[in-house]
Amino acid sequence: MDYFPLFYQIKNRPCLVVGGGEVASRKVALLLKANADVTVVSPELGATLEQWKSEGTIKHIAGKFSPEQIEGQVLIIACTDDEATNKLVHETAVKNNIPVNVVDNPKLCTFIVPSILDRSPLVAAISTGGASPVLARLLRARLETVIPAGYGKLAALAGSFRDKVKQRFSNPADRRIFWENMLQSPIAEMVFSGKDKEAKEAIEKALVDADEVTTGEVYLVGAGPGDPDLLTFRALRLMQQADVIVNDRLVSKEIMELCRRDAEIIYVGKERDKHAVPQEDINQILVRLAKEGKRVCRLKGGDPFIFGRGGEEIETLAAEQVPFQVVPAITAASGAASYAGIPLTHRDYSQSVTFVTGNRKDGTVDLNWKALAHKNQTIVFYMGLMGIEIICKQMIAHGLPETTPVALVQKATTPEQKVFIADLASMPDLVKSSDIQPPTLIIVGEVVNLHKKLSWFHS
Ligand code: SAH
Repeated sequence: MDYFPLFYQIKNRPCLVVGGGEVASRKVALLLKANADVTVVSPELGATLEQWKSEGTIKHIAGKFSPEQIEGQVLIIACTDDEATNKLVHETAVKNNIPVNVVDNPKLCTFIVPSILDRSPLVAAISTGGASPVLARLLRARLETVIPAGYGKLAALAGSFRDKVKQRFSNPADRRIFWENMLQSPIAEMVFSGKDKEAKEAIEKALVDADEVTTGEVYLVGAGPGDPDLLTFRALRLMQQADVIVNDRLVSKEIMELCRRDAEIIYVGKERDKHAVPQEDINQILVRLAKEGKRVCRLKGGDPFIFGRGGEEIETLAAEQVPFQVVPAITAASGAASYAGIPLTHRDYSQSVTFVTGNRKDGTVDLNWKALAHKNQTIVFYMGLMGIEIICKQMIAHGLPETTPVALVQKATTPEQKVFIADLASMPDLVKSSDIQPPTLIIVGEVVNLHKKLSWFHS
């Protein structure tokens, strides 16, 4: 983060705008929206500023900028077309530790004016750190469409209940849960459709009925194969409302960034040279946290029910009577296949697809090779990198041609995705001679030949 975002109280406080043209009037308009006490310094004023001056809305110092004018100001904006003046304003402000913005000159700014979505008291500010104001504006336009105008009213209504809710729930966690329930209930719709009185009554009633005792819950959430764009809406919502996130190695940093900022994070994956937390301990951690009344998001790579040991985790939860829900996700095979341009089935080449684990037990990959080594089907090996030699050898030994194409997809759907293509005979050597980073997925079958024609992602 190059700039620290905050909302600044400038109501009735002196702010200085240096410049009297069209741009200046736009900046002054913004400051006036926040009820600032605005002084404009400029030899002349444009029509809008002139009018505000005559109405007494702004003060005017007719003349050039001089350093003593910054005395007592809490914020300064410069927008003259004279570079030397802009620079002088910047230097003077910096020397006196007053936030300063020189319009269209990021180097001379100690703060940026963001793109603003105003649903007061709800305000969203978007910045690209000066890199692309147009992008920020486009994003704001998108937010305009998803944040109905009624959100301002909803925020104001919530504000009017703040003290009452605080009195009713002494524990901040209980307050947060109360508000989450309220704001996601039909009350929001009541406000949006103008039924303010009904909404107010519903909150009053909920305050009386609310139960102080909160029971925890576990969300077993699939985080997909890596690209945060592939998360489901529900996954995202639960990641943002959980009190604790229990994650492991396959959940990418980018996805962790989307979790609630102040959630406690418990990492249970394997660190380099260290062992992962044993499955039984993870099960117990989930039970303990939920029994403390926490909402726990158990975040797992891919889909929780595909080689994810999700079944074992919820078995323990069910036995302990802890409420839970499971959120499905895109599994690595689907992600890798789409991003590598390898359809898992195809009318001409493959009528079925099988997901198997290539995880070795005691040095062998213990699989029903006879069933796997058939033409016209696709086999996807999860956790197969270590066993690649055995996998290829056995598939050939059980009847597949040596020339059957094989794809190895590294870090599928992430910017580090790489696709290695070979056949059953040559893949083990390719793996040996390449620097391959886990996690990887191995796809065996004629559909792999379509990769060249259909891949759109870099490989
Ligand atoms: N539940 C997960 C699988 C967990 S098993 C899912 O549904 O995807 C772990 C194995 O998944 C890894 O060894 C690897 O074979 C595969 N895998 C997970 N993410 C992957 C990715 N981004 N790219 C390639 N393989 C991946």
